[in-house]
Amino acid sequence: MARPLIADIDLDALRHNYCLARDLAPHSRAIAVLKADAYGHGLVPCAKALAELAPALAVASIEEAEALRAAGIETPIMLLEGFFEAAELERIEALGLWSAVHSAWQVDALLAYRPARPLPVWVKVDSGMHRLGFPPEQLAAQWARLAAADDRVSDLHLMSHFATADSVDPSYFQHQMGIVRALADELGAPTCLANSPATLARPEAHGAWNRPGVMLYGSDPLETASDASRRLAPVMTLRSEIIALRELEAGERVGYGGRWQAARRSRIAVVAAGYGDGYDRHAEDGTPVLVNGRRCAIAGKVSMDMLTVDVTDVADADIGSEVVLWGRASNGALLSVDEVARHCATISYTLLTGVLPRVPRRYH
Ligand code: PLP
Repeated sequence: MARPLIADIDLDALRHNYCLARDLAPHSRAIAVLKADAYGHGLVPCAKALAELAPALAVASIEEAEALRAAGIETPIMLLEGFFEAAELERIEALGLWSAVHSAWQVDALLAYRPARPLPVWVKVDSGMHRLGFPPEQLAAQWARLAAADDRVSDLHLMSHFATADSVDPSYFQHQMGIVRALADELGAPTCLANSPATLARPEAHGAWNRPGVMLYGSDPLETASDASRRLAPVMTLRSEIIALRELEAGERVGYGGRWQAARRSRIAVVAAGYGDGYDRHAEDGTPVLVNGRRCAIAGKVSMDMLTVDVTDVADADIGSEVVLWGRASNGALLSVDEVARHCATISYTLLTGVLPRVPRRYH
């Protein structure tokens, strides 16, 4: 029998979450963010599942876009970080991609390039993330250079990214929004601003286009859940089984460093999943898993290929019992990847993108 660890990917849930993003912003078009192998869910199967719904997809590199085109995906594709060298413009044109532009050298390269048809361009302003984008005071000048070159670039959009749209404190979001709104008004520019938290909770950021990512995969990025975010459905279920059981006396220890110590006579289940699969090694004692659909707690440090769970109170736990690390158990019980992430002192994004290639993906 094969090692019983699998990532089940529910493509109906992906479509459900996309429709939620779309319906929350009825005057915007939602670009499905599929970078990082669709946040670990599989780039091409996810793109195919959304092909009929999403007017555009977004990725981080030309290689990801090429993989989509090679799979026959004809939907427009945005490069969120634009191009990394001028030589990529030929491939951008050949693949029909939409490029973000965040730096003066990229404007120079675009103006020096002679495409057969003008290239659509998304001009990024740094409204406060302080990562990519033109400083607000430089934006209008770069915009004017591009707008004047309408034989080389077309469809100028204003793009920005929020640092705190997930926070209950709206002040920094509002600061960023004020900068973008002033520029959009001045330039008469259509906008593309909203990531998942802004799609879910900041309707004032909804523009001509939005860019939801993690919510498509069923993770709730909000600091405090909302009615809308509670309707998200998990797309990935990371599922394994118990491969061995141990009876321990009170006082005996489990795993590397002997971190977990039995406070009573205990049954410990050994589960086929470890950090060599991408399960986070920082999972603390008490991190929840579902054994036969019932919540149990990790006991002891995660190893490369295994982790250990206290199943003392699950009478039917046996070799071969289902263990869900996150997602939906066979009995319908749910364990959100967000809850697991909190126990690993991280965020769902790293857990989902961190599931390694040796874990087979099974699509439904
Ligand atoms: N837009 C940009 C530029 C991004 O970098 C990302 C992801 O980090 C997204 C949109 C999607 O963000 P989220 O996954 O929070 O929806």
